[in-house]
Amino acid sequence: MTRKSLRPIQETRLEITTQTSPATTAFTSFELGSSIQRGIAFAGYDTPRPIQLEVIPAVLEGHDVLGMAQTGTGKTAAFALPVLEKLMSRRKSGPSVLVLAPTRELAKQIHEEFTTLGQFTPIRSTTVYGGVSIRHQLNALRSRPQVVVACPGRLLDLHGQRGIDLSGIDTLIIDEADMMLDMGFLPDVRRIVELIPEDRQTLMFSATMPDEIRKLANKVLNHPKVADVGHSSVVSTIDHELYPVTQRQKTPLLNFLLGDVSFGSAIIFTRTKHRALRVAQQLKSNGHNAVALQGNMSQAQRDRAMQGFREGKFQILVATDIAARGIDVANISHVINMDMPNTPDAYIHRIGRTGRSEQSGRAFTFVTPEDEAAVRALEKKLGRKIHRCTLPEFTEQTAEEVAATQAMPKTAARDRQASSAPTTPLEAAQHRLSKRTPSSGGGPRQPKQHKGFQQSRSKNSRIRHRKHAERSARSS
Ligand code: AMP
Repeated sequence: MTRKSLRPIQETRLEITTQTSPATTAFTSFELGSSIQRGIAFAGYDTPRPIQLEVIPAVLEGHDVLGMAQTGTGKTAAFALPVLEKLMSRRKSGPSVLVLAPTRELAKQIHEEFTTLGQFTPIRSTTVYGGVSIRHQLNALRSRPQVVVACPGRLLDLHGQRGIDLSGIDTLIIDEADMMLDMGFLPDVRRIVELIPEDRQTLMFSATMPDEIRKLANKVLNHPKVADVGHSSVVSTIDHELYPVTQRQKTPLLNFLLGDVSFGSAIIFTRTKHRALRVAQQLKSNGHNAVALQGNMSQAQRDRAMQGFREGKFQILVATDIAARGIDVANISHVINMDMPNTPDAYIHRIGRTGRSEQSGRAFTFVTPEDEAAVRALEKKLGRKIHRCTLPEFTEQTAEEVAATQAMPKTAARDRQASSAPTTPLEAAQHRLSKRTPSSGGGPRQPKQHKGFQQSRSKNSRIRHRKHAERSARSS
């Protein structure tokens, strides 16, 4: 791996890059005290990640930093470790480090990282976010922790009630800045920045760099060092597939794929909170271990859903963007976008939940004819075409077949693979449809077939499909 050097913000180019692999420098090469080194060993970190190699020395030297990296790259430890070191040398009580995070889940993750890495130090951290009692947070703040990890709205509420004194903050960290923008938090972030002494060190992290974030960076950062370890990167281990469908075919297709594909754990993204809830309920009634994660749930429900998913109690998380962004859960094998994300950056965030730590992952996106412009924008951003995976079964379904498929339990989908006779409504539909001519793949490429599905089709159907694919390729 070639290590990219830190460079001034003006020189930053926004390009899609491939994620780099960790270098071999040891944590002991950093000027971090023994109590922090013990925390690193306890966390089980052997080798610093690329973002850590760049950010840790820059923060220790007192620079402002713009870190262009997404969740999963090790960026939390990249700022937590040098911040802990600096706090150790200052030894003062009361909030002096403020970390702003866009979601409660992310705030909790950051707080946990500080707690793990700082457990052999006297440094303490607390969280401040909405959806839970403010009284408890006020009490926690009275014990004068040095690190406060906060969501912007609740922090402003607390400040308005004189529950937190921000005058002692000398280090400000804005995490997942682009997510702050998407969630409409930038005005709150700007207000908070105004409340913090100007004489401070500021670190900002963002996976993508839209114009608004670039402007914010120029405003809040003072001659920052830029650490770019592949922001907006699409991990090369992810296999992308688009599934052209109509709106009403989405649920049958989801059921079909989940019954057909072997997956470890999966996140399904929906556009609305209501739909996330409904899809999770449908999956549950079809025998899947599914749970919803969306903004209308109480904090306790959200915590239970996240913890259950992390621990493997739930195999499928059905989430909206807001609830799932920034979440770091290992071993997610599939991301399924039931609804096309609004922007290419949102797509990159979503699929970044899989293919982590150089494991392979698959990203399926259901696209309707209305999504064509969004697909074009995405392909432009990625710099390549994404394979269209056309299943003949989902190009010409009748209303009854759709309804029948929606009712299909998971076990039936599995059994279908074991038997060649049509025994389920879906199978009967497939059997009938396999006698029809499959429809076009819809793109210049030869249509790619869904791998799991290919295994379960009859020989005749495969031959028919191959001929059709050859015809499409000739005519394009
Ligand atoms: P983050 O990008 O901060 O969400 O980190 C992603 C995951 O990487 C977290 O689960 C961290 O515990 C883990 N992690 C961070 N740094 C290292 C490291 N140097 N070696 C191994 N795991 C790490």
